[in-house]
Amino acid sequence: MEEGGVRRAPIFFMAVIIVMLVMSLAALILALVAYLTQNTIEYMNVILSVSAIALSVYLLIQMRRKPPSLGFETLKVSTVIKCVKCNYESVREFERGDYVLKEVGSCPKCSGTLHIYSIFREVKEREKTY
Ligand SMILES: [Zn+2]
Repeated sequence: MEEGGVRRAPIFFMAVIIVMLVMSLAALILALVAYLTQNTIEYMNVILSVSAIALSVYLLIQMRRKPPSLGFETLKVSTVIKCVKCNYESVREFERGDYVLKEVGSCPKCSGTLHIYSIFREVKEREKTY
């Protein structure tokens, strides 16, 4: 089972934020260099980079505060598999590439063909602690 895809997403998101942070810092430094060498202040550049830095720092702090997987794990997608010959039915976790009517092997009861019957999303009840 590969669940890495879901867990890798926040890391990718974090990398984008860090790139944004580095680029806005570079823009700020360039604006500072322009100010020191040409005595001109590029207000738009300064304002944009400062707000970009503030935004990325804020997002990074937000991400650290709560585990990034929290929002993803409340939604669970399940796949229902049914045998075409007998009444065998099984439910498993959704796997990438699943689609309705896809052939997924043979039945353990009668060795008939197993097809994906339906794919549904179940919402886990969150533990409420008020
Ligand atoms: Zn069967």
